[in-house]
Formats: sequence, C-alpha cells, structure tokens
Amino acid sequence: AVLAAGAIATLAEVAGDVQRAAGAAERLLELLDTQPAIQSPANPHPLPMPSKGDIVLESVSFTYPGRAIPALEGFDLHIKPGERVAVVGPSGAGKSTLLALLLRFYDPSQGRISLDGCDIRSLELAALRSVMGLVAQEPVLFSGSVAENLRYGDPEASIERLRTAAQDASALDFIEALPQGFDTPLGPGGVQLSGGQRQRLAIARALLKNPAVLLLDEATSALDAESERLVQQALDRLMVGRTSIVIAHRLATVIAADRLLVLDGGKLIAAGTHDELITTSPLYRHLAALQFGGETL
Ligand code: ATP
Repeated sequence: AVLAAGAIATLAEVAGDVQRAAGAAERLLELLDTQPAIQSPANPHPLPMPSKGDIVLESVSFTYPGRAIPALEGFDLHIKPGERVAVVGPSGAGKSTLLALLLRFYDPSQGRISLDGCDIRSLELAALRSVMGLVAQEPVLFSGSVAENLRYGDPEASIERLRTAAQDASALDFIEALPQGFDTPLGPGGVQLSGGQRQRLAIARALLKNPAVLLLDEATSALDAESERLVQQALDRLMVGRTSIVIAHRLATVIAADRLLVLDGGKLIAAGTHDELITTSPLYRHLAALQFGGETL
C-alpha cells in the first residue's frame, strides 16, 4: 500500500533523477522534504559502476514511526544479480515496505541492506536511486509532452532512443497515433491515456533509465486482454538482464520468477518456485487460489 500512495510513487519514480531534471526540481524537492530523515552521507562510498544489482538483507527489521508492530521483521535474503524475484503475501504483509526500504525511503530499524556489498546508507542517495528503477502500480505522469515524460528516464536521450524504448515498451504505435506524436501534451488539458498506455509509458521510461535493479508493483486493476498482452510483453523485455523484484498479482509473473518470497505479518515465511510452494506452503496455496484461481496461461 505504501507505493500506491501518490507521494511515494512520485518520489520513487523520479528521485534518482532530481539532480538532472532541473525544470521540475523544485516540485520534486518539495516531495523529498516529506522524508527529511533520509539523507545522503557526508562522505558517500562510491558505488562501483555499473552496478551488479546484488542485494543482501541481513536481519532487517523495520517499524514505521508511531507504530508498535514491525512492518518487516528479521529479514535475511540474498537476491543475486539478474535474479527474478516475485513477492506475494496478504494485504499488510510488508511487500511495499520491502520496496520502500530498498529505495531508502526509510532506513531499517535493525539490520542492514547492501547493494553490491555496500551498505545502502553509505551510498549517495542519487547514486542508489539511479540504480533502482521503479514501475509503480499507478504510474505518475507529469504535465508535459510524451517525450518530456519519457526523458525523466534519461534527460539526454535522443528522439531515436525514445522511439526504441517506446517500441520495446509496446508503446510506439499508440504514441504515433496521438495528434502530435511524441510532442503531444499529457495531463490536465492534454491527452488522457488509458491505464495500459500509462503503464507502457512508465515501462518505456524505465527502459531509458536502464536500472540494474527493477522494482515493480504489478498493477491489480484489470486491463483488457490486448492491453494486458502488450504490458506483459513490455515487462518481459524490461526485466531481461536485470535483477527484478516484483510485487506479483499475476500467475504469469509468479511462474516466470526464479524465486517467490511469501510474506506474512512482516516475516518471510517461505521461498521457492511456484511449483514447490504449491506443495509446501499452505498460505501460498491459499493465496494462489484466491489471486490466480481464475487465471489460465
Ligand atoms: P498491500 O498488499 O495491501 O499493498 P503490503 O503487503 O504492501 O500490503 P505494506 O503496505 O508494506 O503491506 O504494509 C505493512 C504494514 O505496515 C501494514 O501493517 C501497514 O498498515 C503498515 N504501514 C504501511 N505503510 C505505513 C505508513 N506509511 N505508516 C505507518 N504504517 C504503515
């Protein structure tokens, strides 16, 4: 739920680009002020680039300020470079909190999270967030043209690169059909896009950003079958060659994952493939029946 809340989604998608996105910087800095506790260290440790996308959580626990019960407790986890991990669990299990900690919107109350062997608290925030790409459930688009929205992923990108990313995100056809193509204004007063189109733009933006780690909060809202197929194709292309951590709501996603993490009450209670967990985890069996019961591949 954390990532569905507008401010966090906005922050997550753009925070890594704040320094570069001069035009929107003021608005973004206002948003960043909502989390004043999290700051870059005075002498940041340089992150070896390119990042391998190797993530380790050691005994990580986290309690939201003012809360009595931890949202995450005793997390030990090693996510290897290029691994595809899907996170499942009932509402309130801590799935969004896990992503929020990886993006360093909060620091663990206990334990440590490292990226490529570096404690993420020792890294420059902008460096950390340039490595982490988030595609949120409700992608945030800004007023401005399609091209400007895509360039949040890479302000320097040429129109050729925008076209390639749009193509890979199954978005080129609909963009070209807009009244002014890539120059079409979005947002208030501009063109309204469908949910599936917004998701594909967010995926194109993430492709341009080219992050080593992809954090994805899969949409729960139903798309029509054609839109669903296009989004799925775009996501498959986006995940190639990067570590991906997906809050999964679809059967196709959990089947494609190298490993599923089952969260319950802030704890990692089981891990394995879909086939393994169906036989070994009663909670997973229950969730799978609820969430994917009606789905076929
Ligand atoms: P959902 O599937 O409903 O999105 P989730 O598995 O993502 O749930 P989280 O949103 O991570 O779960 O929430 C974990 C726990 O932390 C819940 O008890 C929730 O109420 C609490 N929580 C989440 N965000 C905050 C917040 N900003 N402040 C205080 N408590 C929070």
